[in-house]
This record gives sequence, structure tokens and C-alpha cells, in this order.
Amino acid sequence: MKVAGQRGSPPAPPRVIVVGGGLAGMAAAVALESAGCAVTLLEARRTLGGRAGSFEDPQNGDELDNCQHVLLGCCTNLLDFYRRIGVSNLIRWEPTVHFVDGQGTRHDLTGSKRLPAPLHLSASMLRFKLLTHAERFAFTRAMVAMATMGRPGRDHLADTPFGAWLDQHHQPASLIKKLYDPILISALNEESRRASAAYAIQVFQETMLSNSAGYLVGLPDCPLSQLYATLPVRDVRLGARVANLHFENDTATGVDLTTGETLQADAVILATNRHILRKWVGEDRANKDARFAHLEEIEDVPILGAHLWYDRPILKESHAALIEGPLQWLFRKDAAGAAVHGVISAARAWAGRPKEEALAAFTQQIKSTYPHARSATLLRGVIVVEKRATFSPAPGIDRLRPHQAPPQGGLANLYLAGDYTQTHWPATMEGAVRSGYQAATAVANHLLEGRRTFLVQDLPTQWPARLLGL
Ligand SMILES: Cc1cc2nc3c(=O)[nH]c(=O)nc-3n(C[C@H](O)[C@H](O)[C@H](O)COP(=O)(O)OP(=O)(O)OC[C@H]3O[C@@H](n4cnc5c(N)ncnc54)[C@H](O)[C@@H]3O)c2cc1C
Repeated sequence: MKVAGQRGSPPAPPRVIVVGGGLAGMAAAVALESAGCAVTLLEARRTLGGRAGSFEDPQNGDELDNCQHVLLGCCTNLLDFYRRIGVSNLIRWEPTVHFVDGQGTRHDLTGSKRLPAPLHLSASMLRFKLLTHAERFAFTRAMVAMATMGRPGRDHLADTPFGAWLDQHHQPASLIKKLYDPILISALNEESRRASAAYAIQVFQETMLSNSAGYLVGLPDCPLSQLYATLPVRDVRLGARVANLHFENDTATGVDLTTGETLQADAVILATNRHILRKWVGEDRANKDARFAHLEEIEDVPILGAHLWYDRPILKESHAALIEGPLQWLFRKDAAGAAVHGVISAARAWAGRPKEEALAAFTQQIKSTYPHARSATLLRGVIVVEKRATFSPAPGIDRLRPHQAPPQGGLANLYLAGDYTQTHWPATMEGAVRSGYQAATAVANHLLEGRRTFLVQDLPTQWPARLLGL
């Protein structure tokens, strides 16, 4: 159905309801509003951002992120979203990735500004003393294999565990611990060996191998929720929880809020988490639409975030990838470095552990890593474990992920968005924005004249990478 006006009067814009104000929902809403739809964005909580959001610290009213969020230079759609909402200037870019070994020695990886990928990291890699000569040689061989297989080559590995690929390519366990794990466990929220080889290789192809800007580390300079303070969407409703969906036959026509209010629309985008969806559409309707067939088979993986306040500076750098755990990454949260945030991804072993036990382990780790922290006292710690942080990018995962648009004969006018939908990206902020743009593209092409896409291009593949086969 394309919306047309009566003669002489401008057409009424099509009404779109977006349920869920995480990144997927916000991206879909902003894109559709910019294309001329009348969008209502409904978010159950009092703040936007969902999993990439903040909460109020009950002790002092400060805004704390539920976890440190990191973006990379290759996150082109997330960057486009930040540009659309006018906050690109709030992202600080780090050209050096700091790795810190168990003795507290820092090893830096910095790209050359003058060299195209993948040559840009070569000089830094030669000086990268975290790795032995043999490990560096093995890593270089693996990088060449990843580049020469190209993107089609990685797609063929969708059903292969990355552990099998690492073994085939004779990657030593010490190299996996020092380099693959710090990069992949945080990028994929999955253990390196358990993840799909296609997703693991995608991380290296997109961040290190194809464009010299891909690896740059972006850190928001403010609490995450402040990024979403002014969305260019006419009707954003916070504290608006959807209770039910409305259908006429098998066509979505609107939603009921828990307040009893009913809202009607020409299209509904569900950008909540996936766990509620089958209940909302009902078993009979779910069975008619392939998008709902495999949702229960997708595994959730937890992430632990630890807000730590010490009585003296702990961390000089903006971040550190810690080779000896349990914390895998540490981020500086104040100018002095006395407030830090630690992260454990793929934190299955940490869900349900007593807070005091976790804080003692983290303090022990920080003291043994940083000699200057040995006499530091932990003043306060807040631990947030998101049990359903993201889905596991396990081998075969893409067969379980639903498309955003309804299939032929599926539930018409009902669209899905969310990091778990089919974006060919892992569950990240970039993946969530892509899903929102993909849902918005499908809605716009259904309701508006003309064809468009909201997705933006990946970073261009630079010439040495193209020569290698990327
Ligand atoms: C601890 C943690 C650390 C992470 N770190 C990173 C990182 O460093 N880098 C990175 O790129 N990604 C990271 N991620 C992943 C990233 O946060 C997610 O992939 C992304 O935010 C998902 O966005 P989404 O919109 O798909 O879902 P969500 O953010 O879950 O949004 C869904 C929204 O729907 C709302 N909702 C639910 N039910 C209703 C209802 N009935 N009515 C109305 N609204 C409803 C929810 O309140 C929520 O706001 C991390 C995730 C977690 C949990």
C-alpha cells in the first residue's frame, strides 16, 4: 500500500509505530521520520538506549552506563546514526590499542596514518613485544589466509567453529590467549574457539585488514543515554510499555499500551528483545511466519561490567586489554584514572557469583597487574551482570536469525528490528543500527513512493587489501 493524498491536499504521512527505544528502534525511527513517515517511538523505560544505555546510580544520582560500550572505525552505520542525531563530536577516537600483560607491561598497536590496510599495522606489529617471533609469524600467516579468502571465503566458514580454523592454521594456544581472545571475546561476546569462524574472521577483515580506519577505537565522552537526548522523531514516548499487538486477519494494525491506550498504524516495527515476540503474535500466527520459527534456539551470553572507584589513580591510559584475567578490559572513567570500569565478556562463569567475591578477584587482579595499585583501596564497586547481553554467534547462527520484513504469506505490516535479526553482523551497536535501517528500508519501500535504502556503505577496501583478495 503506497500512501496517496486526495487531489489538492498533501498526502497524510504513513503512521509507523516503533516498539523499543534501543539502538535498533531509534535507528529505524530516525530513518523513517527523515523519509516523511509519522513515527511514534514507544520505550518502556524512562530512558532511551536499551542495552546501550545508562541508569541512575541510587547512591549519588550520577548516570552510569550499564556497561562500557566501545565502537570501532568500521561501524559505518552506527556512525551514520550518530551523525543523524548530531552527536558525532561526543565520540573520542583512540588510534592506539593498549594491551597490558600480567606484569603490567604495556604493548601498543598503532596504525600508520600514511599506509593503507593491511600495511598500516605492519610496523607496529614488528615492534609488538607481547608476541614472540614465532607467534608473530603465525599471526601473520593467519592474517594472510583471512585476507586471501576474501569475504566469500569467510561466508563458507559459517558452520565451522573458529577453534577448528585456528587448529588448521597452526595457531599456538599462547597466541590465542594474548591476541585472539582480547579482540574476539569482546567483539563477539563469545569464546574465540566457540564462535563461528565466519564471524571471527569478519572481525579481522573489517577491523584490521581492509581499511586503515577500521581498527580505531571509539569511546563515548559522556554517559550513553546523553547521546540520545534529542532524537529527530516527532513523537517519542518514554515509560510507554506495549502490552499487546493488534491484528486484522494477519495484518498488524497497532498496539495496546499497558495503560489501556490503543495506537493504530500503517506499519509496526518490533524492536524489543526477541523473547516476548511469540507471546505477542500468538502461536497460530507465529507458525505462519518463518521469522518466529527459531527464536528460542538462539543462545544468550552474559556480560559483566564492574564500576570500580579507588582512592588513587589506577589507570593512566583510556583503556587496557588485560591479558591475565578475570577482567578482560579496563577503561578509565575519570580524568585521574581512580574510577575505572572493567568488563568480562562471555561471562557465563560470573552470572550468579556473589558481588564481594567478584570485587575481591578484580582488586587482586588489578593489584597484581599494576604495581602502583598495590596500596590502593577500593572505595566502592557496582557490578552489573546482563544475563541476556547478546546472542552467541555460534556456528550456524545465521540460519536462526529472522529477516526484518515479513515473508510472502507472513504477518503483513509487522517488521522486526534488533541486533538478533539477520544483519550478517554480530550483536553489537553497529548490528543493532543496521537492523533498524534494514527494517526502516523495508517499511519505506512498502509505504512510500520510490525505492531507497538507509544502510550506508562499509569503509572502502584499500588497494593492498584488494590485491590480496579482499
Ligand atoms: C553489557 C553489555 C555490553 C556491551 N558492549 C558492547 C560494546 O562495547 N560495543 C558494542 O557495539 N555493543 C555492545 N553491546 C551490545 C549492544 O549493546 C547491543 O547489541 C545493542 O544495544 C542492542 O540494541 P537493540 O536495540 O537491538 O536492543 P535493546 O537495546 O535491548 O533494545 C530493546 C528496547 O526495547 C524496550 N522494550 C522491551 N519491551 C518493551 C515493551 N513491551 N514496550 C516498549 N519497549 C519495550 C527495552 O526497554 C529496550 O530499550 C553490549 C551489550 C551489553 C548488554
